[in-house]
Amino acid sequence: MQRLWLGLGRWAKMQRFSQQSYRTAAYIMIEIPNYSRRPSVGVRVGPITIGGNHPVVVQSMTNTDTADAASTVKQVQQLAAAGSELVRITVNTEEAAAQVGRIRGMLDTLGCRVPLIGDFHYNGHLLLTKYPDCADALAKYRINPGNVGFGRKRDGQFSTMIEVAIKYNKPVRIGVNWGSLDESLVVSMMDENAKSPNPRSAAEITREALIQSALLSAARAEELGMRRDQIVLSCKVSGVQDLIGVYSELARRCDYALHLGLTEAGMGSKGIVASTASMGYLLQGGIGDTIRVSLTPEPGGDRSKEVVVAQEILQTMGLRAFTPLVTACPGCGRTTSTVFQELAEDIQAYVRTQMPIWKNTYPGVEEMTLAVMGCVVNGPGESKHANIGISLPGTGEAPAAPVFVDGEKFTTLRGERIAEEFKALLNNYVVSHYGQGTSPASAH
Ligand code: SF4
Repeated sequence: MQRLWLGLGRWAKMQRFSQQSYRTAAYIMIEIPNYSRRPSVGVRVGPITIGGNHPVVVQSMTNTDTADAASTVKQVQQLAAAGSELVRITVNTEEAAAQVGRIRGMLDTLGCRVPLIGDFHYNGHLLLTKYPDCADALAKYRINPGNVGFGRKRDGQFSTMIEVAIKYNKPVRIGVNWGSLDESLVVSMMDENAKSPNPRSAAEITREALIQSALLSAARAEELGMRRDQIVLSCKVSGVQDLIGVYSELARRCDYALHLGLTEAGMGSKGIVASTASMGYLLQGGIGDTIRVSLTPEPGGDRSKEVVVAQEILQTMGLRAFTPLVTACPGCGRTTSTVFQELAEDIQAYVRTQMPIWKNTYPGVEEMTLAVMGCVVNGPGESKHANIGISLPGTGEAPAAPVFVDGEKFTTLRGERIAEEFKALLNNYVVSHYGQGTSPASAH
């Protein structure tokens, strides 16, 4: 059941509760308001299940040339290490298709078992039939019905891809995209709309065409023999309101598992905000079984950022836990040094680098909460809400940093080595609370 912690510590303090009551009141568990997951048919992709009330899956996509197997393997590994549970690779040329089996083999040798999804356009029918190793090595195929071919050829090429998927027992994502919508479908719907006594706007017709393209293609795949539990749908657009409108309607009309993503979200904060605003709204409505955040990386930037953002969307909404999150205040005129910002950044980075080891050795550690605060105003209160928190001195305050563990003052750190000492306390907390034979409830 989805739950959320609500900190009521300050309220309890104002009510002059006893220390015990304060701690009890500080962590009241409540249901996430208005949250219920849309029922969908679960789709197995290797060891991962999308939909069927399974946790929302994080996925990502490489931007390497798949024909360059070494670079692709390296990036898939990076994305998987960052927490991507599925990784999609472009399969656009014969050279790329010829490398897919080898890429799978290299990843297996390295112990990286993340399922690979092949992204096909235009020539997918040729590549999947000519390169059986590629068809077999992939765990899922992405097919864009707007890009499988033109005119009479389109239906045959779509059918070929579905038949290969059936032959190799692979699921597919029928992934419609605003930028490559089936033109013939749009034209016929526009024509029909023009004859209507109450014609709808072009934007409405385009949104409807996206949905129809996905549903008609899924119905065709089922006619060809695919099972419903082998079909994932997506209808990606680049506008927040369009995405919300399209997915709300798509979710209402079917029970296929849905892949959620704002396409071409953009760079930096714009891409993050647009993705979070649109997907956050839909996820809160229970819509979405797997998500991808399509961020444009800075030149030479880290592709894994899209994985981190996807995880943080799900974790900050209380839908999944991936890594301990650090609560930090924004800082203000009460703290003029950058020490607490540096410590907050340092601790969040430290926790992320430790997670590949911690998640196997210390189960449950991903739900731990941390706080790094800038002064005495909110510092101790917020630190008490975290499992382990530190309140650094603000301007003019005594040069001492009280540390709180599970709501109780534990120690005070001073001097130049506060960061190292706080990390040591953090490590001790992880070992004592999440190590084998301990449980968060018993390890105090
Ligand atoms: S905790 Fe202190 S430094 Fe941080 S924002 Fe609040 S008043 Fe400012």
